Amino acid sequence: MLQKIKNIIDNGNSFLVTTHIDPDGDSVGSALSMCWMLEFLGKKAVLYMKDQIPYRYEFLPVPSSIRHGLPEESFDAIFVLDCGSLSRVGEGYEKIKTLGRIVNIDHHDTNEMFGEINLIDPNACSTAEIIYKLHSSLGVLLNYNMGINIYTAIITDTGSFRHGNTNSNAFLICEEMLRLGVSPSYVSGMVYESHPKERFRLFGIILTTLETYKEDTIAIACVTQEMFKKTGTSREHSEGFVELLKEIRGIEVVVLLREVNSNKYKASMRSKGNVDVAEVCGLLGGGGHKRAAGCTIDGSIDEVKGKIKEVFKI
Ligand code: 5GP
Ligand code: MN
Repeated sequence: MLQKIKNIIDNGNSFLVTTHIDPDGDSVGSALSMCWMLEFLGKKAVLYMKDQIPYRYEFLPVPSSIRHGLPEESFDAIFVLDCGSLSRVGEGYEKIKTLGRIVNIDHHDTNEMFGEINLIDPNACSTAEIIYKLHSSLGVLLNYNMGINIYTAIITDTGSFRHGNTNSNAFLICEEMLRLGVSPSYVSGMVYESHPKERFRLFGIILTTLETYKEDTIAIACVTQEMFKKTGTSREHSEGFVELLKEIRGIEVVVLLREVNSNKYKASMRSKGNVDVAEVCGLLGGGGHKRAAGCTIDGSIDEVKGKIKEVFKI
């Protein structure tokens, strides 16, 4: 697969790189690093992300302009990164298929193999680990700009080496990135210690919605558009809250529901026990990893909670 991708890059000139909506560190870092690599090879790289880069990742070096509107032109290939399904690219994703051959690079267990070429490794700690291997096989000399993107992607997707996906490659690659000049305290400072105080006002309100079930092994909390409005925040300010709730002793599953509109909620699920939340989210039309997954559920808040309680037999 790596050889096939190498041939596509060697024989092409212009590429589109894209990733999922609600971008996280792995999606942003992998996509930016891939663009840096293509530019290093003298190719044209266009980055399309439906959403803006969240404020906490704005420090990452960006090679060329980012587009937030779907491109019109054709490309020699389209690299879709960190997406279990093509729909994760966001509204209008069907059009992407008409712009060039799709190369799907991902580490989700539930990947739908939507590409003409699918480079999927569920054992990789992050999509960035696969991108790192791609750099090596293309003979690209890694530089600081690629390194800080890869480092940030790995740190965030492994929860700073705490989650179950943390493997030896995570440490080895990050060690190499440090030798390229990446500073762990600088990255942590930007990603984890640069929040506006409004984020914490929002968290305070979210905590008032916390409910636990099955002898405190399942936690459900929610965030509504009203809460965002009241605190002057948006979705990006709530990133990471679901992981914080995992700190509750004895908790096995955390579900954070985010209101998209009055009849649609986005569920983020995390597991630290034996529950496979990718499977649970799969039942609800989503997917992800065993210990971190998501899905979108239609209905009012009570109906959505009802559907969740049903799958967990609460
Ligand atoms: P988060 O809760 O942080 O949005 O997502 C957790 C994990 O599940 C991420 O790896 C994300 O890519 C994946 N994920 C979230 N929502 C969906 C979804 O609707 N469909 C699929 N296939 N994966 C999702
Ligand atoms: Mn990822």
